[in-house]
Amino acid sequence: MVVIMKPGTPQEEINRLTVQLEDLGLTVSPTNGVGCTILGLVGDTTSVDMGKITLNENVDRVVRIQEPFKKANRKFHPQDSVILAGGVPFGEGTFTVIAGPCSVESKEQIIEVAQDVKDCGAAMLRGGAFKPRSSPYSFQGMGLDGLKLLEEAREATGLPIVTEIMSPKYCDIFEEKVDLIQIGARNMQNFDLLKEVGKMSKPVLLKRGLSSSYEEWMLSAEYIMSEGNENVILCERGIRTFETETRNTMDVSAIPCVKRMSHLPIIADPSHSGGYYWLVEPLALAAAAAGADGLIVEVHNDPANAKCDGQQSLTPENFRALMEKLRPLVEMMGKTLVQAVV
Ligand code: PEP
Ligand code: MN
Repeated sequence: MVVIMKPGTPQEEINRLTVQLEDLGLTVSPTNGVGCTILGLVGDTTSVDMGKITLNENVDRVVRIQEPFKKANRKFHPQDSVILAGGVPFGEGTFTVIAGPCSVESKEQIIEVAQDVKDCGAAMLRGGAFKPRSSPYSFQGMGLDGLKLLEEAREATGLPIVTEIMSPKYCDIFEEKVDLIQIGARNMQNFDLLKEVGKMSKPVLLKRGLSSSYEEWMLSAEYIMSEGNENVILCERGIRTFETETRNTMDVSAIPCVKRMSHLPIIADPSHSGGYYWLVEPLALAAAAAGADGLIVEVHNDPANAKCDGQQSLTPENFRALMEKLRPLVEMMGKTLVQAVV
């Protein structure tokens, strides 16, 4: 439910009504728009007497929201959210590129790739330390040793780091060490993990599940946000379809559709979407043209010998070429390409 206040309502009146609503057991999230305030109500609003609230002379309208997600909903929060991760902005007028290998493999590898992607214009470094692999016999990632190497790469380049969390048991260590916590597609509906990450203060990159609807995805964001962590960035990473030529199918529509539904920033992962290095550039450009707020791209210094996802990894040269094509497109979309902080 949202309560739209009349333009120019004094703050004391808004505070008075907020207390009244909180006394009914509701959580009130105010949004201050141009000249008018909207109070978003979360909780059991079914028992709230809308008529009584409308009687308040400062209330313009009370609207029941049918959508099951509230905190992620644009109706509650009309302006785009800007989320900061390690000082790097996502959303509203910015275009932010995260790049790096699928997995951290060695100190030399991660530092070399970090330096290369930074030189090409990436603002953050990605690299998996804990890898969700379809087969238990595949490389599972370097674990905590990989996390240490990511920290060393951050130290060497100044690039903030993005890496995937797979278990709530690592929340404390991720809280301390990681700048942006990735929830992978396979864990999008791991509700216990979402709830624990929702208690953290670090921003979260929430990838879309392999076959999740927009609403299911928004509800997963809601799990995180309802625990208190409202810093969620969404990521379209391709969905399962009947097509077998590509690894997944990038759902370009997700970008404008989700932007209508939610105020959260949304980026795209053209690497997992297509599954082949030659598909990364066209998919990345399509996502930027559809209004994405950034990209997460797999880049490897030796794709042929990568321990994971080499076939979809760009070489640093190909990544440079992609960045050159992106620059004018990002500008045409009225956005600024975010530079590395240092
Ligand atoms: C990844 O980013 O390496 C990854 C495993 O992504 P996803 O969860 O989208 O498959
Ligand atoms: Mn990967």
